[in-house]
Amino acid sequence: MRSRRAYLDWNASAPLCDAARAAMLSAIEVTGNPSSVHADGRRARAIVERAREQVAALAGARPSEVVFTSGATEANDRVLAGPWRTILTSGIEHVSVLAPARARAAEGAKLDMMPVGADGVVRVQAAAEVIAALDRVAPALVSVQLANNETGIVQPVATVAAAAREAGARVHCDATQGAGRLPLDIRELGVDLMVLSAHKLGGPTGVGALIVRDGVEIAPLARGGGQELRRRAGTENVLGIAGFGAAAEAARRELAQAARVAELRDGLEAELKALTPQIEVVGEAVPRLANTSCVVVPGQLAETLVIRLDLAGVAVSAGSACSSGKVGRSHVLDAMGYDADKARSAVRISIGTTTSGADIEQFLAAWRDIVGTSRRDRAVA
Ligand code: PMP
Repeated sequence: MRSRRAYLDWNASAPLCDAARAAMLSAIEVTGNPSSVHADGRRARAIVERAREQVAALAGARPSEVVFTSGATEANDRVLAGPWRTILTSGIEHVSVLAPARARAAEGAKLDMMPVGADGVVRVQAAAEVIAALDRVAPALVSVQLANNETGIVQPVATVAAAAREAGARVHCDATQGAGRLPLDIRELGVDLMVLSAHKLGGPTGVGALIVRDGVEIAPLARGGGQELRRRAGTENVLGIAGFGAAAEAARRELAQAARVAELRDGLEAELKALTPQIEVVGEAVPRLANTSCVVVPGQLAETLVIRLDLAGVAVSAGSACSSGKVGRSHVLDAMGYDADKARSAVRISIGTTTSGADIEQFLAAWRDIVGTSRRDRAVA
C-alpha cells in the first residue's frame, strides 16, 4: 500500500489543478498548428488565444501583451540579457534574474544592487536614491520581484517602479511567485515587463509568459517564424498553454481563498513555535504570501531535515529547490544578512488551496518525531 504523502512544496511546483487537467485533456485531442489557416489549425489557434485572454486577465494586462514562453526562466533570462547599459536589481532575486544580470555585467554593463533590509524587503528610500542617480540616456533596467520564492516576502514593486519610470528606466518584475496568490495588475504596479510561470499556479511545468506592456520594444525572445506577434518564434506549446490559461482563470477565482490558506499557514507556524520555541519565522513582521513559511531551525541542517521529512511522507524544501538536487545555503537569506549557519538551516513549507488540515497534521507529526519537542511542559514532565 502506498503511504499517504503531504505535499507542502507549492513554491517549487504547485499540483496541477482540475481546470488545467481538463483543459489539457481536451487540447490533446486537437491536431493542428496554430499558424495553419485550415480548420484544424484554427482550432489550435482558438485554444492559444483563449488562454492568452485568461493569462492577461490574471495579470491585468491586454491579451496582445502576453507572449507565451517555456517558463519564467526563459522570460527572465531574455529580458535581463537585453542591451541594457545599467541593470539595477537585488540580491534576493531568483537565479534566472541574477545569472543573466551578472553575464551582462561581465560584458561591460553596470550592475548595481538595491539594498535589502534584514526584514527581506528592498529598502525603498535607498533604492530610490540609486535609481535617481541612473544615467537617463543609456538604457537601464530595474528588476524587482513581486514575492520571494523562499520567504514569500512581498516587495514594494509599485514604489520602486514609480521611481524607475521617473528616472526613464524600464521596469521588469518577476511575478512568478505572486501571480495567482496576490491580486495582480501590471498597470497598477507600473511595470513594463512582467514574468509568470504556469506551474506555480496550478498549470503544467515548461510554460510561462512574458507580458510586454504596449509600447515597450523588446528583441524577439527567439528568432525564426513570426509567432507571438514576432516576439517569440516557434510553434506554440498548445497543450501547455491550454493548461496555463485554465490554471490562471482558476487561480484568479481562488484569490478569495487566500485568507483560508493564511489561516492554515499561521496555525502551522503557531504549532511549530510551541513545539520548537527556538525557531525563527523569516519575514513574520512584513507582508508575506499567505501560503509560504520559511523557518530557520537553529542547529539543524535544512537538507537533512528535508530528507527525513521526505522519508516520513512530507515534501518541503531547503531554501530554494529550483535547480535539481541543489542544496547548500540560501542566497536569499545571505542577502538578508543571516549568518551562514542560519542560512543553511532554513526550511520552506509552502501550501495552497487544496492543502488540508490532515496534510498539516502529517507534517507536524513528522516534525515531532524528527526535530523533537522542546515544549516547556515536556521538559517539566
Ligand atoms: N522566478 C521565481 C521567483 C521562481 O520561484 C522560479 C521557479 N522556482 C522561477 C523564476 C523560474 O521559473 P520556471 O520554473 O518557470 O523557469
